[in-house]
Amino acid sequence: MAFLDIEHLEKSFGTNRVVKDFNLEIEQGEFISLLGPSGCGKTTVLRMVAGFESTSSGAIRIDGQDVTNLRPNQRNIGMVFQAYALFPNLTVAENVGFGMRVGKKPKAQIKSRVEEMLQLIGLPGLGGRYPFQLSGGQQQRVALARALAVQPRVLLLDEPLSALDAKIRVSLREEIREIQRELGITTIFVTHDQEEALSMSDRVVVMNGGVAEQTGEPFEIYNHPKSRFVAQFVGTLNTLDATVIDAKTGQVRVGETQIGLNRELPGALAGSTINLALRPEVVSLGRKPGRDTILKGRLAEVHFLGSTIRMRVDVDGALISLDTFNTPDTPPPRIGDAVELSLAERDLLVL
Ligand code: ADP
Ligand code: MG
Repeated sequence: MAFLDIEHLEKSFGTNRVVKDFNLEIEQGEFISLLGPSGCGKTTVLRMVAGFESTSSGAIRIDGQDVTNLRPNQRNIGMVFQAYALFPNLTVAENVGFGMRVGKKPKAQIKSRVEEMLQLIGLPGLGGRYPFQLSGGQQQRVALARALAVQPRVLLLDEPLSALDAKIRVSLREEIREIQRELGITTIFVTHDQEEALSMSDRVVVMNGGVAEQTGEPFEIYNHPKSRFVAQFVGTLNTLDATVIDAKTGQVRVGETQIGLNRELPGALAGSTINLALRPEVVSLGRKPGRDTILKGRLAEVHFLGSTIRMRVDVDGALISLDTFNTPDTPPPRIGDAVELSLAERDLLVL
């Protein structure tokens, strides 16, 4: 049995079913992300695991123990929220030690544990400060320390980085993951940011309308999306309309280019339109070995990002995004230039 086992979890608010038959087995020490757009039910799942929200049906087990109907303080779970939820009138040390004081732990033990936690989050010596004297990133690290101080069995993080500046967000990602690894604590991380989910997680659960649409390792989710929603929500996706020539052999046409998809297109009639999709990184500007399908287009946008350049090329009315690396000696082509794109047929997804 998995360490954290969520079975057939359901939640309705009145007639509104916001979590539908949610199932997830998490191994001890695993880092799992719930990824999905705002309102898809991520927080509600997390709050049910924490015990802040009752379940409409289903079961939650931690380490073999059924906790479905236990109060939050009986579950031994640590939680960090999006907005800094530190107690403003307590010092950093008092915040971190809060749970242990509630649990009536001896003073000396609290003191040494608090010091250990401040060390862990890289803020030794700041125990005497108040939250308002800290940056947003430091406050979230203190919130993490407070959640971890009581040695919870499970750590729940609800969009803990979303209120922070971009640079801090990226560095804190790595810090959180490092601390999580070091402690080996089983973690559920909620985010609507696909890059965050892909870069941090052992596995990602993509949620849509209260349903877990796909669960898998980041590589799997990104490269083998099981639904159109997952394909579009996780990463940038180019879509192209193609006209079917022969559904049995997978011959289609995009603009002037005939493409052999080498797979059957069930249910597609000759002359009908299907939707092809491809990631930016499988498209090259100009001809490249191994990328034998050539699409002709016109450069519509150039976004110079520094180390990379994102371009959008108009192919038969569809805008195809692709990235190239910056080359200091060669300026990028100009908007309006006729360009060729090359790609490999096997990289085309049929949606
Ligand atoms: P997410 O965290 O993915 O943005 P939530 O879990 O917060 O989504 O919300 C999922 C849905 O449940 C939303 O439609 C939201 O309005 C609804 N919801 C959440 N909490 C409550 C509540 N206490 N009462 C009524 N509806 C709620
Ligand atoms: Mg939420």
